[in-house]
Amino acid sequence: MSVRLSSFAVVFHVAQQFILGVSLMTVSAIGISGETPQPLIAVKAAHMLNVNDGTFIDQAIVLIRGDKIIAAGNKVQIPETAQIIDLGDKTLLPGLIDMHTHLTADPENSGYSSIALSVPRQTLIGARNARLTLNAGFTTVRDVYAEAYSDVGLRDAINAGDIPGPRMMASGPGMGITGGHCDDTMHAPEYRLTSGGTADGVAAVTQKTREIIKYGASVIKICATGGVLSFGDDPKASQYTLEEMKTIVSEAHRLGKKVAAHAHGGDGIRLAVLAGVDSIEHGSYIDDEGSKLMKEHKTWLVPTLYLGDWLIQHAEEIKLPKALLEKAKIVLPDARKHVARAVSLGVPIAFGTDAGVYPHGLNAREFAVYVQIGMTPIQAIRSATINASKLLGWEDQVGSIDVGKFADMIAVDGNPLKDVTELERVKWVMKAGAVIR
Ligand SMILES: [Zn+2]
Repeated sequence: MSVRLSSFAVVFHVAQQFILGVSLMTVSAIGISGETPQPLIAVKAAHMLNVNDGTFIDQAIVLIRGDKIIAAGNKVQIPETAQIIDLGDKTLLPGLIDMHTHLTADPENSGYSSIALSVPRQTLIGARNARLTLNAGFTTVRDVYAEAYSDVGLRDAINAGDIPGPRMMASGPGMGITGGHCDDTMHAPEYRLTSGGTADGVAAVTQKTREIIKYGASVIKICATGGVLSFGDDPKASQYTLEEMKTIVSEAHRLGKKVAAHAHGGDGIRLAVLAGVDSIEHGSYIDDEGSKLMKEHKTWLVPTLYLGDWLIQHAEEIKLPKALLEKAKIVLPDARKHVARAVSLGVPIAFGTDAGVYPHGLNAREFAVYVQIGMTPIQAIRSATINASKLLGWEDQVGSIDVGKFADMIAVDGNPLKDVTELERVKWVMKAGAVIR
């Protein structure tokens, strides 16, 4: 996926220099000569949100050739050959991006309910969840931890056009210490179960990072602290050492992959940031020192806050083991306070949900929580568009309605800057120039 994306980067380098409001001139500038002409589509809408500056463009037209945007603004002429999609008084936005999903997981299959599920079955559950996620307006996701390589298989099937789904960056198994949050901690010792991403010590983590990339991961996920939905570990305790994380980061970066670190406790957050990870996932106990470090190191924070509401409400229904529910009741409400403080201190935020812990397709419920903890609606929307695209390293491909990017767009009825929950009611979705719903 990343290889394919980067080859586009060269072709569209010039086109990317243009921003919203370009004229039809651009069409001929990037016309694809010598190839079968691709279909032209013109999407019209009463309003279009420019996520770069937070302004609306009225009577907007987006011209698409094949899978890419070739012109956008209110002065675009529609060529006679273009098919017109008129969205009436709707508001257009770029497709949303979720930086923390588990597409092959479902809440009802968490804990011991997951034991009887084979990896092939999980992958097919992922196919259903990929469709739900795309229909909800999330045209890109970063999937951070799946059993075996079910997420890598899912990503490849979506890219091949076999099934509908968002474009995916996939991590494969998460890396962690023996007995840590990324390891299997549900079974008695005689089962001798260890998760596929478990590795301890510098030599082992070097080998494991290379192995996970060998089998197709496009990002490395690590567990820097304990977690909520695992037995016998403490979310506040750090897990990997600084030395181990530095090794993973340098291997991954050398091989062109970013590193996402699951981290709740303050110590683990600081160590992971010092090791050079690209994002901190959850960040539940982030303190002021951690916030300062993250700003200095330009490390993204990916908060996942709505999940606490859903999990505590539905714990019985999904048969959440009592020990895990007790942890959730402590950690998840605390997370809001600490993440709110980090937001007020200016830590860069990219949108995440942990969907899989709660049902896929409800991802947009996270926006309202971001606004409750002090972000403006445009900041919340940026976290799921332009900011997320930067964390992926795909900012020249997705994240805004700009010339040269994939035609990934959504439409809503009302004004999402007045009511961010409009994003929970997405009415129209396009991915790569194809209308999804
Ligand atoms: Zn997660």
